[in-house]
Amino acid sequence: MTKIPVGILGATGMVGQHYLRLLKDHPWFEVRYVAASPRSAGKKYREAVSGRWHVAGEPGAHVWLLQVEDAGDVSKASAALGRGDCSFVFSALEMGKDETRALEEAYASAGIPVISNASAHRWTDDVPVLIGEVNPDHAGIIPLQQKRRGWDRGFIAVKPNCSIQSYMTPLHALALAGFQAERAVVATMQAVSGAGYPGVPGIDMIDNVIPYIGGEEEKSELEPLKIFGTIEDGVFKNARKPRISAHCSRVPVTDGHLACVSLEFGVKKPSLEEVKEIWASFRGLPQELGLPSAPEKPIIVHEENDRPQPRRDRDAEGGMAAAVGRLRPCNVFDIRFTALSHNTVRGAAGGGILNAELLKYKGYLS
Ligand code: NAP
Repeated sequence: MTKIPVGILGATGMVGQHYLRLLKDHPWFEVRYVAASPRSAGKKYREAVSGRWHVAGEPGAHVWLLQVEDAGDVSKASAALGRGDCSFVFSALEMGKDETRALEEAYASAGIPVISNASAHRWTDDVPVLIGEVNPDHAGIIPLQQKRRGWDRGFIAVKPNCSIQSYMTPLHALALAGFQAERAVVATMQAVSGAGYPGVPGIDMIDNVIPYIGGEEEKSELEPLKIFGTIEDGVFKNARKPRISAHCSRVPVTDGHLACVSLEFGVKKPSLEEVKEIWASFRGLPQELGLPSAPEKPIIVHEENDRPQPRRDRDAEGGMAAAVGRLRPCNVFDIRFTALSHNTVRGAAGGGILNAELLKYKGYLS
């Protein structure tokens, strides 16, 4: 099968590097275009990341030799589209929100679909925030987005904030089984890689926990409502439940966001055994379709009382699964548990790749 040529915007950053590592031997996609800031533009990729390649593993050998382009110059990507080197882009840019929003729209307008990790478009009312196992049907808004904006081939689809990834699939699996969470209290312990590179200064992180991550609590409380929402009259209508109260802290862990979650259900409440069974047996559309990056088990249930742990469990299923454990009754709500997800894989590059696989399956990426 001829692979689809793809581009990475923000290819030199933390998430961009994970894209390159994960796409190295991808069966459907091949990276043929890389772009970053004007600081990196004009350099060969190897030179651009010299001294700051952070991830275990390597990109495809040809990637080291690609010239980094300026991500702000859409005409370069258009030219790459024209010569068959960039059919769509993964966006892993770290820029101001307004700038990112405008730039991603410029790519879509130029006929280049954008699968984004940035938060800029998560609240745009015709842009889907996709988790393959939870709301694959939200991709159905893409033709409406294209029509509304006059885009023929381009569109924008995004993935959610990395901090919610560990508990969204577990909540969805319970709701599907008839156990809708009404209220949730979530406390996250988020890895330093979540802040990109160089991120939080080392001196602030060693021997410390920082009980504030700008914007993260608002994202954790609101993004789930869009993801659990519906498409009405061509735009998203948010779900009303669950109401979420989030506390987000930065902890000295390299990768893996951990969340302690307490849930209250409506009248119908599951037993702990039912919850475990629902999670362990849950499979979503990516699993049914056997998409290349889909974890076989999207939710891994731990019985040990000291798991999941970031260092031991973040790489399960290639970093694409949510690991849950410490399931027990809650003294205030109904149940409580701990959940873990790899923030730069499932919460970022791996999640973006799975979204692209889903969108290709649905016929949006030719
Ligand atoms: P990062 O390590 O700081 O990388 C940022 C990338 O953006 C670099 O390639 C950088 O290029 C490029 N860039 C910066 N300013 C630019 C400009 N003016 N024009 C063009 N390119 C520019 O950040 P990251 O952690 O990879 O995050 C990337 C995106 O993913 C962000 O939107 C972030 O919110 C999101 N995200 C991150 C995570 C995570 O766990 N880290 C999880 C989910 C989502 P240079 O190298 O040339 O400066």
